[in-house]
Amino acid sequence: MLDYAINAMPGVVDDITHTIGNTPLIRLSKFAARHNVDATLLAKVEFFNPAGSIKDRPAMAMLTALMESAAFNEKTEIIEASSGNNGVACAWLCAIYGIKLTVCIPEHMSIERQKLIRHYGAQVVTTPKDLGTKGAIERAAALIEQNPNAVGLSQFSNYANPNAHAQSTAQELLRDTNGHIDIVVAGVGTGGTLTGLATSMRAHIPHLEVVAVEPASCPVLSKGHGGVHNIQGLSSGHVPDVLDVSQINQIITVEDDEAIAYAQQIARVEGLAVGISSGAALFAAAQLAQQPSNKGKNIVVILADGAERYFSTPLFAD
Ligand code: PMP
Repeated sequence: MLDYAINAMPGVVDDITHTIGNTPLIRLSKFAARHNVDATLLAKVEFFNPAGSIKDRPAMAMLTALMESAAFNEKTEIIEASSGNNGVACAWLCAIYGIKLTVCIPEHMSIERQKLIRHYGAQVVTTPKDLGTKGAIERAAALIEQNPNAVGLSQFSNYANPNAHAQSTAQELLRDTNGHIDIVVAGVGTGGTLTGLATSMRAHIPHLEVVAVEPASCPVLSKGHGGVHNIQGLSSGHVPDVLDVSQINQIITVEDDEAIAYAQQIARVEGLAVGISSGAALFAAAQLAQQPSNKGKNIVVILADGAERYFSTPLFAD
């Protein structure tokens, strides 16, 4: 008979939230060879999170902060604006904690996101494409105004969002590389990922170069104006409160079709089926790796979600 102690089940977690984070960091050797570069490209693959994206970490942090606050009681409902992945992560967590959730999402965000949010039992309110993420934020605010039990998590202004990345994503990167990182590349939606990584990693790596990626057709950070784009999850059309722009060393803009082409290529070259914003980040990382001054450097690129959230989009066009 096996001599296991009663109650000692070291491989069991209490619920699925305990599986957030500790995502793999994968060396992209074949992608680097394809682009003839002499830098080390390392991909932090966030589709390994339980609800499928980078937003699981901040959603957990924001929800925990709310549940621990005096404002929270058993009648509390959440109404949140999202380009989708935050909505999916919140819907997943609200299912676990039994909280009523409404997600306001621009109508052109993929149907896969909307279906997943409903699948977890939350409500979806779609807002017009031409109003962008701002339209979703304003609708959420209006709905909260009408409902005395409703609160928002407000990912664009909630500092629990970047703090989640400072406390988990950044620590994992430092641990997994022994701090040997020269450049970090991340797409900017709320800016939570970029701000959290930059503030926390710079304390250990003073020479760290932080590169923001944004859509060429919505260049809020680089040119100061918005626009409609198809890199879902990036640029909301405004500079979010939680984005610390002073942390950004360089901004790289990426066209929608370049992002799609790189997301398709990485699936075929490295077996990584990632989403469109990951393709944008990879495009930027390849550009950086090709610069002679970056020869031999270690470049970390954040891949925010997986391709299966985009079956209905041009990522899967024949
Ligand atoms: N890529 C995708 C697909 C996303 O959903 C998000 C989150 N909006 C991001 C990148 C950017 O993340 P952050 O909000 O931390 O800037």
